[in-house]
Amino acid sequence: MIEMIGIADKVEDAVRKGLRRLWEEESALHEWRPGVYYPSYIGYCLRKQYYIYTLGERPTSEKLAVFATGRGVHGAVEEALRASGIVEVEDVEKKVEVKLTDNISLSGRVDLLLAEVEGERVIVEVKSTSRLPDSPLEHHVMQLQVYLNAEDMGRGVLLYWDKRRGAIKAFNVERSGDALRRIAERAVMLHEYIRRGSPPPKEAILEGRLWECDLCEYRSICKPFLLPGIHEGERMVISEVDKVLVDDSEREREALALAGVPGARIEELPPDVKRRFYEYYYSADLLSRDTKGPFIEYVWKRRAEGVKLVIISGRPEELRERTEDELRKLGLTWDYAVFRPEGEREVWWKTNMYRRLVEHYQIEEVLDRDRAVQRTARRLGAKTILEV
Ligand code: SF4
Repeated sequence: MIEMIGIADKVEDAVRKGLRRLWEEESALHEWRPGVYYPSYIGYCLRKQYYIYTLGERPTSEKLAVFATGRGVHGAVEEALRASGIVEVEDVEKKVEVKLTDNISLSGRVDLLLAEVEGERVIVEVKSTSRLPDSPLEHHVMQLQVYLNAEDMGRGVLLYWDKRRGAIKAFNVERSGDALRRIAERAVMLHEYIRRGSPPPKEAILEGRLWECDLCEYRSICKPFLLPGIHEGERMVISEVDKVLVDDSEREREALALAGVPGARIEELPPDVKRRFYEYYYSADLLSRDTKGPFIEYVWKRRAEGVKLVIISGRPEELRERTEDELRKLGLTWDYAVFRPEGEREVWWKTNMYRRLVEHYQIEEVLDRDRAVQRTARRLGAKTILEV
């Protein structure tokens, strides 16, 4: 048994080391020399690219896993296309270069070049993903645009492979000179920041691409989740608005009635009725029914003790102004407020926000009625509404 454990450890270690070595071999093909920029990176946060050029690449184990899966998926797609008998693969991993100025160029490798699909040569860029997108992602389109312009080809395909479910989705991308001009501007900007030795603004966070920061290996240097006006290490109370700072019971009653289900329990509503309920519940007209909530005096007290008050609310971002007015009328002041961006699932979004903030702050309490949210808060060491 002891021997078996030794063998298992060895195999684990071998995989880790092997993956790193493969990554290093691949990475050696990128020279990270100011002036040469990479289409596969250029659509990502400029600040992150700045760090790569000035501090070197630092692959996390997550990144190595993404790299390894990507390699596997590329190989599988290539084999599948060759086996299909429908298209002919002309080239793989073809090196391309676009010269932008005397000292700035974009250099990369095309995944797959198909000899002819319906009379055209086509570039195929393959991406493995954990969720198929509804439309091609901007940074992937930028990458493909560079290749199309470099190869003077009219059309390419972005092919996404859902590595969890095996689903596949492909999108057409037409070559665009305008897109190449925008990409060139980014490369020139990045070059200028590197030349001056000053990092660009935190682009990913400023543009709401928090997922990019979650995966960024320079997060500990960049500190994207520090909130303006709240210093690292400070204590905070995080609070929801509804059912905590405001009493929404009348609004909730009215919204249920308007949705045609008076007195029903929200968690038991069928999806389409629930959607209708939330449209009324979050309508600006009904907000006027709110009154002072049960924890408003409590957060006043905590704030007076020097603890920061951060509002993280499931109310949609578009209600920010009205919500802030509502809270001011109740006499409340706070240190920072975040509202749910469109399309985000509430519990998932809130728990991610807490995880990001706990990297920099002492979250002492989370005032939120949702049980799943409370469980996350407790795991992060915060007291919940039930304990204050
Ligand atoms: S942490 Fe976010 S903002 Fe900072 S460099 Fe990384 S991706 Fe950009």
